Amino acid sequence: MSHAPQDRCKDKAHIVGGGIAGLAAAVYLIRHAGFDGSNIVIYEQDAVSGGAMDGSGSAGAGYLIRGGRMHEAHYACTWDLLAGIPSRDDPAISVTEEVFAFNQRVVSCAHARLLRAGQKVDVASYGLGRRDVVDLLRLNVSPEALLDGKHIDEWFEPAFFDTVFWQLWATTFAFQRWSSLAEMRRYAIRFMHLLPGFNQLKGILRTVYNQYDSVILPIETWLRQLGVRFEMNTPVVDVEFECTGKQKRATAIHCLKDGSPRRIELGEDETLFITLGSMVESAGIGSMDTPAPLLPRSDTGAWALWQRIAAQDEAFGRPSVFAEHVDQSKWMSFTVTLEDPGFFEHMERFTGNVAGTGGLVTLTDSNWLMSVVLAHQPHFRNQPPGTFVFWGDGLLPDAPGNFVQKPMAQCSGEEILQELFSHLGIVELVRPVMGKVNCVPCMMPLIDSQFMPRVNGDRPSVIPEGAKNFAFLGQFVEVPHDCVFTVEYSVRTAQTAVFGLFDCGREVTPIYRGDHDVKVLHEALLALLR
Ligand SMILES: Cc1cc2nc3c(=O)[nH]c(=O)nc-3n(C[C@H](O)[C@H](O)[C@H](O)COP(=O)(O)OP(=O)(O)OC[C@H]3O[C@@H](n4cnc5c(N)ncnc54)[C@H](O)[C@@H]3O)c2cc1C
Repeated sequence: MSHAPQDRCKDKAHIVGGGIAGLAAAVYLIRHAGFDGSNIVIYEQDAVSGGAMDGSGSAGAGYLIRGGRMHEAHYACTWDLLAGIPSRDDPAISVTEEVFAFNQRVVSCAHARLLRAGQKVDVASYGLGRRDVVDLLRLNVSPEALLDGKHIDEWFEPAFFDTVFWQLWATTFAFQRWSSLAEMRRYAIRFMHLLPGFNQLKGILRTVYNQYDSVILPIETWLRQLGVRFEMNTPVVDVEFECTGKQKRATAIHCLKDGSPRRIELGEDETLFITLGSMVESAGIGSMDTPAPLLPRSDTGAWALWQRIAAQDEAFGRPSVFAEHVDQSKWMSFTVTLEDPGFFEHMERFTGNVAGTGGLVTLTDSNWLMSVVLAHQPHFRNQPPGTFVFWGDGLLPDAPGNFVQKPMAQCSGEEILQELFSHLGIVELVRPVMGKVNCVPCMMPLIDSQFMPRVNGDRPSVIPEGAKNFAFLGQFVEVPHDCVFTVEYSVRTAQTAVFGLFDCGREVTPIYRGDHDVKVLHEALLALLR
């Protein structure tokens, strides 16, 4: 299917999923494929759009972000997308301009990236032995096909996992020893240009506020102004396909509208975009007094839909490879709201970083492998003066704490804070203000599912061979060379889908390849050896 943009003002598009992938697809349909906004519908099972890029709550009730994002200059698709979206605070500039201006003022350069026994660890050297460096280089030059199904710990010597490099790597990107080796290779190549400053998170770009306020809201506002319809609380539960010979067509969508089943037939000029899977589905939210529950997978959500789709054609991928290893894919985050500046003042003094300039501070001797991030304040558009918000995670939530003798998964927000403050040696300092703190824990059963070891074909193509009127979006479709667990990957799938189904007069923005630049290669190698 390939028409000139002017032919398409009556064409209709249905988009399953209101995360960044689905929103980006809507933007590109309007901006480059000639679609009228009023002919685009986005179906979202949740009450708000944004998916993983969430941000909710208030000073009184406590704020919640399941995750916070690091970006970098070579997120070429993301900056392209946001270059056409006005900032909420200053509509005269784009979100991209806002982000780059903000990062000139608030520059990322961590002075306390790793702590041990409450003290800063010297991270000037990555601590790699010759064998580790050889293994990393060997990985970079190995064809991805040779790494099919392999775990990271099948490739490296045990000593590698004690190095500063691995501690930085695992906690910056949320890799586990059992994660996909092929994904690690992609990261090592894709972010090679960041290696010289990786120990200080140099080159990391952040948004002014959390990503719901700074990215999702501006895009949604822009789309709504152009007439795009958002069908919230509307899970799409099945899609009918007609797969005959070499052609595949989506013919109908089944969704639940206010709990009632609805079938929407797709006409000749209708196109369907489907976000497959979701890393934040079934996230369980706790409170200061209650642990975050480990929820079962929904039978009407993203994963259930992909299972039904996958059963219809082998080109539609294998969701169980990613979704059925919760013990390996889960970890936890927590969001802390404070009505007192004491903790921020202490951390700024101790780390040497003004909030927003440091990024992850990892407690390397924490059994839970905890990290905290103090973002620039305010982190929410509606955050009043005198309120402070920070985020943290624990990548090993099943291990008993070092101070609280329980797994993180069984801890309330208060117990998580006890563990954190004990590691930092500030229990007495914070005791007087504990009544002014709210910690919301969040268990994400599928957060690392996109890092599960996979083989060719587990992820379907964005536009499967023969697909005439549909495409897949998000973290679980294949985009050669790019890295999952990034906003960029999802936006790239949206570009690939729209520019591939329609003649937009534009190519997909190329992926930056530092490994093709001798200077980048040279500096990365020096960094590994120092
Ligand atoms: C803790 C955490 C930290 C992160 N850190 C970074 C980082 O530092 N840098 C970075 O670049 N990225 C980071 N990411 C990843 C990034 O946020 C995600 O890759 C990206 O937001 C995924 O977007 P998506 O639209 O593809 O999927 P999602 O965000 O999962 O959105 C999918 C949406 O579709 C909806 N949906 C799915 N199926 C259906 C259905 N059948 N019916 C109706 N609705 C449906 C879902 O409800 C959801 O709203 C992080 C994510 C988390 C959670």
